[in-house]
Amino acid sequence: MAWIWEMNSIDESRFTRALKEKPASIDGQTEKASFDGDHGSYTCTLSHCDCQDFTMRLKGKQPCKHILALGIALGAYDPDAVKRMFDGRRAVDELSRAYGHYYLFHAPVMADAEYDALKRKWSDLLPSD
Ligand SMILES: [Zn+2]
Repeated sequence: MAWIWEMNSIDESRFTRALKEKPASIDGQTEKASFDGDHGSYTCTLSHCDCQDFTMRLKGKQPCKHILALGIALGAYDPDAVKRMFDGRRAVDELSRAYGHYYLFHAPVMADAEYDALKRKWSDLLPSD
């Protein structure tokens, strides 16, 4: 079984919760885990989970926090790469809000030094040219 989920299909709040989620039991051979939840226990593989979030809300189209937690436990994907993706999105949002406001209203929303600090903060995450 392999990691089938696109990075972009990962929801940030579910990912954040997955980082704190620990399987009640895990079988590395079959890549199956069980999790204890508020409404009983859930059986989970890398592609399916029988919790309500996965079956009802996400309708099997995105991974729930259990699948994300199992993926981390099995080393099926790199959680640091997912964190970088979310940080990168935030960088683009934050910078485009700041610059967008400037170009729309011809008035800076912050001092030049603050723009520079913002650019420095995100420079590693943004494309270099
Ligand atoms: Zn689940």
